[in-house]
Amino acid sequence: MAIALYTHPDMLDHRPGAGHPEKPERLSAVLDALSDATDLHLEPMEAPLADLAELQLVHPEAYVKAILEAEPSSGLRRLDPDTAMSVGSARAARRAAGAVVSAVREVAAGQRQRAFCAVRPPGHHAEPGRPMGFCLFSSVAIGARAAQAAGLARVAVVDFDVHHGNGTQAVFEDDASLFYASVHQWPHYPGTGQPSETGVGNVANAIVPPHAAKAAWRAAFESIMARVDAFSPDLIIVSAGFDAHAHDPLADQSLEEDDYAWATRAIVDVARARAQGRVVSSLEGGYDLRALGRSAVAHVRALQAA
Ligand SMILES: [Zn+2]
Repeated sequence: MAIALYTHPDMLDHRPGAGHPEKPERLSAVLDALSDATDLHLEPMEAPLADLAELQLVHPEAYVKAILEAEPSSGLRRLDPDTAMSVGSARAARRAAGAVVSAVREVAAGQRQRAFCAVRPPGHHAEPGRPMGFCLFSSVAIGARAAQAAGLARVAVVDFDVHHGNGTQAVFEDDASLFYASVHQWPHYPGTGQPSETGVGNVANAIVPPHAAKAAWRAAFESIMARVDAFSPDLIIVSAGFDAHAHDPLADQSLEEDDYAWATRAIVDVARARAQGRVVSSLEGGYDLRALGRSAVAHVRALQAA
């Protein structure tokens, strides 16, 4: 099966500062690794700029305008201790959200089943009214709302980034037509995502301690996938962060590429059983360039295996 690959070079122009782990080379590493994997059947697609109405599917108008106007004319503008904007950041963030929106619309229209969005900045920490944790717009949550507007009534997000997606959860937790499932390290940034946070019965948080065995991570992941299966979504959107990799500098987990392939197969299995195979995946974290590229390849390879 061919996989749509949504990306755009504008997303290399977001430069949050020297030494910042969320650097442009991350996107290059992913694209280079995908390009080198000659067994992948990728259909390159241009990630469009999300427009104001699309961003406002999740964020208040005043927030969207404030972010777009916060872009500096030179240098850096710091929004929080981890999150900064450079020249080009607003377009990059609009492309990142636009990629997910376009991908879900194509899937909703029946034009394809699977897509991978190679994007940055990531999105899952951005709350409706607050940038946070390298994230400006809550891209995956925006994609979920766009999918609903395109006729896919029930949308589940599976977030295997090592950090809890507090922003996505904030959008989803009061809306029973959406489901948010996350496995993440705890204690760890951002400090949310306890299993006791259950929304309106539509949030499943599974935690693993630092230095957890792979088997513990897999068991936690299986527990959330059982909940996603029971929710019976029309579409699964993946917050694909690869920072639970053993080599990642920002966390203390022990996953390797084959674990991401395994997790992706589990997602595809539920999608085939419940959602006519529909899966849209979007890059979140992952900060060791080599591990990031190899993990993304393993993920996309498993996505394309019907
Ligand atoms: Zn992360």
